[in-house]
Amino acid sequence: MAGEYEFAGMMVERFAGYHRQSYGGCKVGVGDVVIGAAALAAEYNGAEKASHIKDKLIEMTHLNETLFCCGIACSAEGHPTKAGNYQIDLLLANVCKQNVTRFPYEIVRLAEDIAGGLMVTMPSQKDFESDLPAGRGGESVGEICRKYFATREDVDVEDRQKVLRLLENLCLGTAAVGYRTESMHGAGSPQAQRIMISRQGNIQGKKDLARAIAGIEK
Ligand SMILES: Cc1cc2nc3c(=O)[nH]c(=O)nc-3n(C[C@H](O)[C@H](O)[C@H](O)COP(=O)(O)OP(=O)(O)OC[C@H]3O[C@@H](n4cnc5c(N)ncnc54)[C@H](O)[C@@H]3O)c2cc1C
Repeated sequence: MAGEYEFAGMMVERFAGYHRQSYGGCKVGVGDVVIGAAALAAEYNGAEKASHIKDKLIEMTHLNETLFCCGIACSAEGHPTKAGNYQIDLLLANVCKQNVTRFPYEIVRLAEDIAGGLMVTMPSQKDFESDLPAGRGGESVGEICRKYFATREDVDVEDRQKVLRLLENLCLGTAAVGYRTESMHGAGSPQAQRIMISRQGNIQGKKDLARAIAGIEK
């Protein structure tokens, strides 16, 4: 920057703004997979018609699409700079990321509720494929797994195992590094967004507005 360090703070704020805008797309994509996997788990569990399951899927969709709205909004409200590139709306980008530090946690909570505890206690793929004998009946470990984890006749028990493993990974495993902890800390921890919301939120302008509406003279 040829020594123009007075712009360093602005550069950090703008870079972080772009980064925070992108979370309104990237985390929504992962959210789509979580919602789809939860809906499949409910179907395989045979509970997809229960009204509370439908309502929870609606709630998850509402939260996920709210994040998408914010990503779209801060882009649509952007403006061209003198240099000719586009600058996203900084306030809305920080609101977008602040929501991302919260909503995925609720989406995961609802997904875990819908899936049931089996998403963490389900036997492994090795158990499902095992020929080792188990118990007195002469059945193998794999046969016992397929027998006792079966739900509906038209559902392959191993598909049920696969979708629950996917949910385990998205909610708690290595994929959750991206979905939860990255939602919290990526592009700056929550407090960093709150500082920017306070800088960009124009509280003074809102006080003036309230004064004018209430008829309060300075
Ligand atoms: C999965 C993942 C992917 C990431 N990907 C990228 C990437 O692609 N590119 C990139 O640049 N970065 C990336 N990051 C890094 C991310 O930007 C940082 O994690 C984030 O800025 C928070 O910093 P930190 O993890 O060092 O936490 P810390 O700064 O240690 O924050 C921990 C806590 O301490 C508080 N705190 C910190 N300093 C102070 C202070 N001075 N006063 C009061 N409280 C304070 C914070 O508010 C927070 O609550 C990624 C992070 C994760 C988890």
